[in-house]
Amino acid sequence: MYQERGLKRLGITIIADILIFAVCGVFFAIGRLMFFSSADNNSGAGVSLPVIMYHSIYSGSPGEYIVTPAQAESDLIWLRDHGYTAVSAAEVIAYTEGHGELPDKPVLITLDDGFYNCLSDYLPLLEKYDMCAVMAVVGKYTDELAPADPHVPAYSYLTWNDVEELYNSGRVEIASHTYDMHSLKGRRRGCTMISGENEEDYRNVLRADIDMLQNEVYSHIGAYPEVFAYPFGGISRPSISVLKSCGIKMTLTCYEKPNIITRDPDCLYGICRYNRSGLYSTEEFMSKLTGE
Ligand SMILES: [Zn+2]
Repeated sequence: MYQERGLKRLGITIIADILIFAVCGVFFAIGRLMFFSSADNNSGAGVSLPVIMYHSIYSGSPGEYIVTPAQAESDLIWLRDHGYTAVSAAEVIAYTEGHGELPDKPVLITLDDGFYNCLSDYLPLLEKYDMCAVMAVVGKYTDELAPADPHVPAYSYLTWNDVEELYNSGRVEIASHTYDMHSLKGRRRGCTMISGENEEDYRNVLRADIDMLQNEVYSHIGAYPEVFAYPFGGISRPSISVLKSCGIKMTLTCYEKPNIITRDPDCLYGICRYNRSGLYSTEEFMSKLTGE
């Protein structure tokens, strides 16, 4: 009797394990189909592209989202000494569209949120080491927060003049980080769909926000952003077609995974990035990013 019950329980456990395994497998497969299908479909071809995500570059205490200028410089030295070449998003986009080649060891450097210190403390480093980066600005921060308290390296955001200066340096492309959806307050997480929200309503809300910043950036630098960074890495599938229709050719996530860039432009929707936390040494971070 005891043995029979034990066997029955064992059987139930095995069935439950199989079910959990199957459900996890389905979610994993859906996730891969949504974000990584093109990148994984290359048959041995394609170029590996590690992508770094910085936020604030400031000479205070390092943190999860704060890297000191000394750390940022040490990162650039490491990349140079290990044969990496910083590429622009435009070069990567052109490659997927069949134009040009990428260097042997490309790296894409991204800067999120639009901190002023990226102009005051990081642009000189990009110039010193002949590298380039992509800056993702939040429209409302640049419109309202930056002019209210500008040019304090610890916390100020870029003003539109600063954005223009970064862009005119020829080393920094301007990307969108939404006009006003960089928030975890309320029911919406970043620019994700709210549970139960009508899909068409969501598309309209997102399109209005994205278009607003596209037009504002264009009015200042004469070019529309082609790169979009999802706030907090939060993604809803309907966002992809909306972003495409707004002229976005590359979307950046916070999944920490390598990327394979192919000649298929669709491989750029869902680019994975490694957050450069100031709590790691350059060697620790680069080992995670590149495996070297
Ligand atoms: Zn952000």
